Amino acid sequence: MEIYKKSITELSELLQRKEISSVEMTKYFLKRISSFDSKLNSFISLDENASLNQAKLADKLISKNKNNLLTGIPIAHKDLFSTKGIKTTCASKMLENYTPPYNATVVNKFAEAGMVNIGKTNMDEFAMGSSNETSYFGPVRNPWNLKKVPGGSSGGSASAVAARLTPVATGTDTGGSIRQPASFCGLTGLKPTYGAVSRYGMIAYASSLDQGGPIAKSAQDCALLFDEMKGYDNNDPTSNFKFNKNKIKLNYEKQNVKNITIGIPKEYFSEDLDKKILDVLNESIETFKKLGFNFKEVNLPNHDYTIPAYYIIASAEASSNLSRYDGIKFGHRCDKPKSLEDLYLRTRKEGFGKEVKKRIMIGAYALSSGYYDEYYMRALKIRRIIRNNFLEAFKNIDFLFAPTCPSTAFNLGEKSSDAVAMYLSDIYTTPINLAGLPAVSIPVGFSNSMPVGMQIIGNDFCEGDILNIAHLFQQETNWHKEIPKEFDCE
Ligand code: GLN
Repeated sequence: MEIYKKSITELSELLQRKEISSVEMTKYFLKRISSFDSKLNSFISLDENASLNQAKLADKLISKNKNNLLTGIPIAHKDLFSTKGIKTTCASKMLENYTPPYNATVVNKFAEAGMVNIGKTNMDEFAMGSSNETSYFGPVRNPWNLKKVPGGSSGGSASAVAARLTPVATGTDTGGSIRQPASFCGLTGLKPTYGAVSRYGMIAYASSLDQGGPIAKSAQDCALLFDEMKGYDNNDPTSNFKFNKNKIKLNYEKQNVKNITIGIPKEYFSEDLDKKILDVLNESIETFKKLGFNFKEVNLPNHDYTIPAYYIIASAEASSNLSRYDGIKFGHRCDKPKSLEDLYLRTRKEGFGKEVKKRIMIGAYALSSGYYDEYYMRALKIRRIIRNNFLEAFKNIDFLFAPTCPSTAFNLGEKSSDAVAMYLSDIYTTPINLAGLPAVSIPVGFSNSMPVGMQIIGNDFCEGDILNIAHLFQQETNWHKEIPKEFDCE
């Protein structure tokens, strides 16, 4: 049946027609994980019994006709979504043995819809990274080329979906961590508007930037997952009322897009971009033109300030958020502390990896008295200016296209000793987080046999529109159906 190739809708039809049960489907994907994941390291933990119990419940719902489109379908969760009774490590030694007493809202919503949590995926430690090399549990590999990184920080989720070890997965995006790995692995990933999805139970990195979202094969699957994730949550005061009822309808028709104008920001299509990637993007823009979309060049000035502003703000928030790991309430605690100070110092020294410590120090420095105005306040002002630049652009155009990354997936180890090179790989994704906007990355072709992604960026709460645009493209092209050879078998 080649179940691994199927979309949510196709899997749901199989379940509905009783051609397969959720228990069988869950076993099928668990078997793929056990056959293939030793090559990828995309999962941190599996709890087969818990997965199968959820699948049994789903089968009951299906037999009583109480199911919806998502019921019975496996989903993998990035290991920073808290899962009740199942270890949630954030890929850190600090939380190596931490089992949350509650579920993240997103995890609850999918469980209530009857989805099966198939396992917890590997990631950069505390979501800090662009390559998945900072994980305490070792790096993840890219299914398109095992010598290359899958991107980060949601690299485990992307690698697992790309190798078809799970039909879909969750990720989080603080500065690109859904879109960049989706792009490196040939997938579709949605970073929602800030506040569209509850952050309750998502272990915090930089709270004013973090957003959960789906990583899947297609825009259609992303829309189905986003519909379930979105909405106001009493437990997250920054979540927004906007989306409570309306489901996304993927109903854009070719003939209706004549009135839509897409902006091409000059600063994003500059010489910084690899020439081959530019060619692939231009080719996909031709497809959009044939579909009837209009294009217009626009300016997004101040682009050069994005990376410095992002890394100041994200590190400042991280240094504050991560102060809770002190060996007292939960997480790692050093052995035989001699004093309270010794307990704090050794616990944090042993529990955090190098990248996390670096961010905590940068953040504490940027927030310290004397430097606060010069760094943190200035970065906040730049953030506002960057958002205003986007809003200004949206007065003349409806949506923006941008590359997702300046390169395709790089080799393991290639950038891990050069922080600036690593940080610059986020140059096209971080501005969208600073501005709080929604963006979807879709696969648009290949360069040197590695997938290339392109972002479709919308104004606040335009997830439905950008997914519609992505879906139209995916009805015309087959890039999203490509599967890495080694994993394209039962
Ligand atoms: N690479 C960026 C960082 O390290 C983004 C990470 C993310 O989105 N979680 O901060």
